[in-house]
Amino acid sequence: MFASDDTCQVRYHIKPSDPYGHLFHVTLQIDQPASTGQQLRLPSWIPGSYMIRDFAKNILSIQAQCAGQALSLTQLDKQTWQVEPCTGCLEIHYDIYAWDLSVRAAHLDQTHAYFNGTSVFLEVVDQADQPCSLIISNADIAPAKDWKVGTSLATAGAELYGFGRYLADNYQDLIDHPVEIADFDCIQFEACGIPHDFILTGRHNADLPRLARDLTRICEHQINLFGQPAPFQRYVFITWAVGEGYGGLEHRASTSLICKRDDLPCINEADKVSDGYQTFLGLCSHEYFHSWNVKRIQPDIPYDLRQENHTPLLWAFEGITSYYDDLTLVRCGLISQSAYLKQVAQTITRVQRNPGRMLQSTAQSSFNAWTKFYKQDENAINAIVSYYTKGALIALALDLTLRTLSKGALTLDRVMVDLWQHYGQTGEPVAEYTIQNLCADKLLQCTQDQHAVTELNIFLDNAIYGTEDLDFYDLLQPFGIEFHLREAISMADLGGDEKEPSAQRVDLGISVTPDPSGAKITRVLSHSCGHQAGLSAGDVLIALDNIQLNASNLEARLRRYQPGDQVLIHGFRRDELMQFSITLAGPNLDTVYLTVKDQDKVSAWLGN
Ligand code: ZN
Repeated sequence: MFASDDTCQVRYHIKPSDPYGHLFHVTLQIDQPASTGQQLRLPSWIPGSYMIRDFAKNILSIQAQCAGQALSLTQLDKQTWQVEPCTGCLEIHYDIYAWDLSVRAAHLDQTHAYFNGTSVFLEVVDQADQPCSLIISNADIAPAKDWKVGTSLATAGAELYGFGRYLADNYQDLIDHPVEIADFDCIQFEACGIPHDFILTGRHNADLPRLARDLTRICEHQINLFGQPAPFQRYVFITWAVGEGYGGLEHRASTSLICKRDDLPCINEADKVSDGYQTFLGLCSHEYFHSWNVKRIQPDIPYDLRQENHTPLLWAFEGITSYYDDLTLVRCGLISQSAYLKQVAQTITRVQRNPGRMLQSTAQSSFNAWTKFYKQDENAINAIVSYYTKGALIALALDLTLRTLSKGALTLDRVMVDLWQHYGQTGEPVAEYTIQNLCADKLLQCTQDQHAVTELNIFLDNAIYGTEDLDFYDLLQPFGIEFHLREAISMADLGGDEKEPSAQRVDLGISVTPDPSGAKITRVLSHSCGHQAGLSAGDVLIALDNIQLNASNLEARLRRYQPGDQVLIHGFRRDELMQFSITLAGPNLDTVYLTVKDQDKVSAWLGN
């Protein structure tokens, strides 16, 4: 099983041993176990996804042996085991249950095998710095006969896409290259001389050559933004096409993505970029940008995989990345400037409709990601702000502010390149005020104007630590763009377009989902008329003014009323009938669209 020429002292072997039962079998050999008894542990979270997931719960059985003798294992806590002392090579065997079709864990059935190292590889405590090898074996079932291996792990004998031996510099490296094993489709392309693979598993009829063409532009743009050479020798996009799903997770030389198969372009579409395809390209662009911003330009946290690691900086690592994901698409010409400005207006609209932005700063949102952003409940919209969306707006506002205060001499691009050179390339972690200080220093260098620096500091302090709205009316005007607010014309109105207001629309301030008995409330906005009348998440509304209602006719029924009208709503809270008397209100002025006043100025901003 292990090649005798393997010089690594820590060697892993993984095999999809029971695809129908969703089990991987892992063998771990340790040449020099700790003399006092080796400890082994599995991470409780995966970097990039800031939530405790306790992957060790999926270990079904674990045994240890040395020279053919079974050794006792003592479990010390939810994720750590201690083996009795032994001399000679220690061998650990364990089974892992893998039935989580997300980019964060492991999944195995007769159609494919996928794992992140954080879900399957025990860390050898105190030997995490050692190089380690990994042998990947195929499943012994007929559907697996054409399976191949897709991963950015360095090979140590395995052929490209082949089973066999791979190599990692250390445990951190081992767990930062997810592995997809399937009869996947694959297209290769080069960006700035670096080989890239786009691997696609799942049922689809995607136009792979087009994906390769479009991704080449995105990748080359980002490599050139930070400066060649790219920080990896090879890059792999691992993608699953599914009916419903969306998500991505960044790694140092790859990303795992899950998308709707209908979002992928098909051959009939010519060069049109559908909304779904724009979403997918934005996701690819986002995760690729993370290769620099967060995978190498890193926050000052210990990356202790046993517990939460708090940072106030996710607004920068996720927000700046979110700003650049769509910006890259417009700069590459994959979407038009008007499509980009619509996207920006929709992002501002999302934040405007989020009462939680008045309570929580993005620094607080970042710090509490583990317990708030990743554990959102029905009140999240009233309680928290997203460090993704508000963070993206801060990055946009920062870029515009730097350009304005420096009269065009300084841009966020320049700051990102500096961050890359002084933090990413050196491995120096980014501390809480690093980015603010860097922006201030560069602005002072450009302008020699202390007043401008003071203005920048006030702006950043409010944006990151405050809860006031960013003033996009003033921010966008110097770039030839006018900012407009209007009322939403329907519950489906996401903003971004100019629309005639619908006459006297009313808005309860609730979201509903279909329920067999009526319309079930999923959330109630603070200070809305629904809130004032006592409507609550979980209530099932059944009648409006004594006429039956449901989720699909609620909006049409409300169109027959005007702000100020009094209505009676009946609904069930658990099994108790409730009656709500509501004075209807009009919609908030929370929907944004942008218009171009000076095309030259817009092009000057979005063109570089
Ligand atoms: Zn991200």
